[in-house]
Amino acid sequence: MNETEIIGVVVDAGHGGNDPGAVASGLKEKDFNLKASLYMYERFKELGIPVVITKTTDETLTREERINRVMSAFGRNPNVILISNHLNASGGEGAEVVYALRNSSALSAMVLDEIAKKGQVIRNYYQRRLPSNPSQDYHYIIRDTEPLQSIIVEYGFIDNQNDVGRLRNKGLDYVEGVVKAIANYKQVPYIPPIGFEDNTYTVQSGDSLWKIANEFGITVEDLKTANGLTTNTISVNQQLLIPTTIPEPSLPGDYIVYTVQPGDSLWKISTQYKIPIDEIVKLNQLDTTTLTINQQLLIPSLPAKEVIESTYIVQPGDSLWKIANEFNVTVDQLKTANSLSTNLLSVGQKLIIPNIGKPSIPKEDEIEEEIIEEEIPQNIIYIVKSGDSLYSIAKRYGISVDELKSMNNLDSSLLLIGQQLTIPSLENYITYYVKSGDTLYSLANKFESNVDKIKKLNNLTTNNLSIGQVLLIP
Ligand SMILES: [Zn+2]
Repeated sequence: MNETEIIGVVVDAGHGGNDPGAVASGLKEKDFNLKASLYMYERFKELGIPVVITKTTDETLTREERINRVMSAFGRNPNVILISNHLNASGGEGAEVVYALRNSSALSAMVLDEIAKKGQVIRNYYQRRLPSNPSQDYHYIIRDTEPLQSIIVEYGFIDNQNDVGRLRNKGLDYVEGVVKAIANYKQVPYIPPIGFEDNTYTVQSGDSLWKIANEFGITVEDLKTANGLTTNTISVNQQLLIPTTIPEPSLPGDYIVYTVQPGDSLWKISTQYKIPIDEIVKLNQLDTTTLTINQQLLIPSLPAKEVIESTYIVQPGDSLWKIANEFNVTVDQLKTANSLSTNLLSVGQKLIIPNIGKPSIPKEDEIEEEIIEEEIPQNIIYIVKSGDSLYSIAKRYGISVDELKSMNNLDSSLLLIGQQLTIPSLENYITYYVKSGDTLYSLANKFESNVDKIKKLNNLTTNNLSIGQVLLIP
């Protein structure tokens, strides 16, 4: 049997749960390993290579459990490849691969070569023997997985600042290098993820970072991060990597999710929340101004400072009722805020406007009810943008690449900019934008969900949330 004959690939996220692996530079090895493994897993599926992953969450695995999962994936077959993803520590820089005493170095050499092409410093590939029994492999994930072709990929050193910088910016690129090496080794046609490998841009005369960022629908900050730029200076013919990750709305201040009611229009919502229509359209990436009932819109609420300090100077013809109406507060709230005992106003009088612009946020129990009562699942139409891949879109909506492909009858992973994709109804999920003070625990409580489910659905490897982060709540 040809040793490259496709049987399958097992992807193993090293460490996890109680075992963080190496910890340094404010990073935990297990987080990178899981992220790398999930990425790799989706990519092998995209390429049509049978793949099994040992875990998809930050789970503690005993040695036995891990080996069981690996060995039960495709059985004991020498054509099965096992990739155990790791970061290194203590003294070194760059990537290395450990391979089994039972195997040749061919696969390891290809893997390191592809990682090198992605720009990572390369150390070497080697076998490591157990000191107490030199006929055996040192690492149990290699030793106990015979007869698989087992390799450990160490992408870099977590305690080396050069590696950490590169891993932060290009970590998944190195993982993609491994994917490519495996595809080549298995003689499977390799298709790069959209906008990942081929998405480099050559700087033209007259370009600026701002102009390029704008063209690709990303921020200057994303562009700088992706290319490790510390200044805004670029030069003609310079190659820039256009990042593919869809930036999560990194939104300053508080946002609320508004559920569209019967009779709503963008104009009505814009008036109610005192937010320009353009801003709502842009924030929600709306392609049409038509709203559908139960559609959820992200609405910025005004900064707290303005809330407290807003004052209004009474104009001729004003009445408390008129002013209250204009600022979406009640006459009583206005009177209380200004300690007014009568309804009489004088022109030029200063009034404190309480909770200006603070929309009447639907009460939490109302939100839940609306979602429970929502009977007609509504599919989302997503318009493919530059830098999207099936993987990134699927991940964004918490569905699998397979679901996305089957929903859209796609035979290949190629996407076209402007292509419309149907995203399966999220009827069972609530889209929630993280606000200041939220924790996974408080959200789980609020939505009667649980922390593990939320983490799994959103591929979270830590409990840390950032304001504006989008969460799907099961
Ligand atoms: Zn490790």
